[in-house]
Amino acid sequence: MAKLTVEDLELEGKKVLMRVDFNVPIKDGVIGNDNRIVAALPTIKYVMEHGGRAILLSHLGRIKKEEDKPALSMRPVAERLSNLLDKPVTFVPVTEGKQLEDAIDNMNNGDVLVMENTRYEDVVDGENVKRESKNDPELGKYWASLGDVFVNDAFGTAHRSHASNVGIASNMDQAAAGFLMEKEIKFIGNAVDNPVHPFVAILGGAKVSDKIGVINNLLSKADKVIVGGGMTYTFYAAKGIKIGNSLVEEDKIDLAKEIMEKAGDKLVLPIDSVIAKEFNNDAESKIVDNDIPDGYMALDIGPKSVDLFKDVLKDAKTVVWNGPMGVFEMSNFANGTLEIGKFLGTLSDATTIVGGGDSTAAVQQLGVADSLTHISTGGGASLEYLEGKTLPGIASISEK
Ligand code: AMP
Repeated sequence: MAKLTVEDLELEGKKVLMRVDFNVPIKDGVIGNDNRIVAALPTIKYVMEHGGRAILLSHLGRIKKEEDKPALSMRPVAERLSNLLDKPVTFVPVTEGKQLEDAIDNMNNGDVLVMENTRYEDVVDGENVKRESKNDPELGKYWASLGDVFVNDAFGTAHRSHASNVGIASNMDQAAAGFLMEKEIKFIGNAVDNPVHPFVAILGGAKVSDKIGVINNLLSKADKVIVGGGMTYTFYAAKGIKIGNSLVEEDKIDLAKEIMEKAGDKLVLPIDSVIAKEFNNDAESKIVDNDIPDGYMALDIGPKSVDLFKDVLKDAKTVVWNGPMGVFEMSNFANGTLEIGKFLGTLSDATTIVGGGDSTAAVQQLGVADSLTHISTGGGASLEYLEGKTLPGIASISEK
């Protein structure tokens, strides 16, 4: 796979439409965490330094009615970006029309402009018409007409076909990946399509039902698939192991059986658990092998499972990890996730990839993120990528 990237583009004097992911947490106009803005800086700066005129588009939250708009304006984001770049950034409070077109005409090389929230187009004249979110063909065409080239750096929306990603790309001669997007394609795309073996997948988190697609796809690609976290106990139930009050999806027990039959010894389950009587960090806990006694629930994998998993992982050359091994949000049940994260950091010959969502939160909270090769920025997008699906946002980027 060779997608066009921002480095392949001639940028000098060009109007560069850029789809970025500025969907930051925002309350009363105050940005809670600007990680996503910071993450987009390398691509924005590259465009500026190469004489491009950066026209930035992003969605922010969800807009279902006219009254949702003021709280989800992109203005504070443009202000934060201006601080981070230490340079004025033009904010245009509309998503189409003369004011936007004039502002773009007035740009000089190296300038940056932020357009209002693309999802303002979801509600027009009070009606929830979803022009952006349903990829209205006229809207994509219009936005495309505002620029010369298109750079998509918003991996988090790559699993959606919206006007601001797919719509624009399909109306441009050249649609390229930004640096963030390029990294996601390189690491997740390669792991799924072309992994260096041995390839081990670690799947955890709460529910089997959320991960069926990922389990099935990775079972067909990986040499071993380790299962941990809450979904373990649906597999335990399928094996006839006692699970006490642990998390279980009764309607997925048959599916778990099917998966185990198909997978054989490729699937590796925990052999011990940290259990407690309540879902509470202060609940008294103990460690048991296999069977969970009545009245107890399993909240983390135990030390024997950690050793077993390390043994499976030690020779791996590619590791993909999605979902924590236990209730990592509670310090007394974070150990399994922490130990596996730390161990992955020691695998210097391996490409270690964390697949987004809660897994990203877990490795960041536990302080092991820096020792891993790639931490995905997308939640739903990474999951669908790991399921082997074609992501429309990536498919719409031009081939080299
Ligand atoms: P997911 O979004 O599917 O990756 O699930 C992440 C959530 O699974 C986290 O909030 C964890 O607290 C939760 N989780 C992990 N292990 C367990 C467990 N043994 N019992 C209940 N919840 C769990």
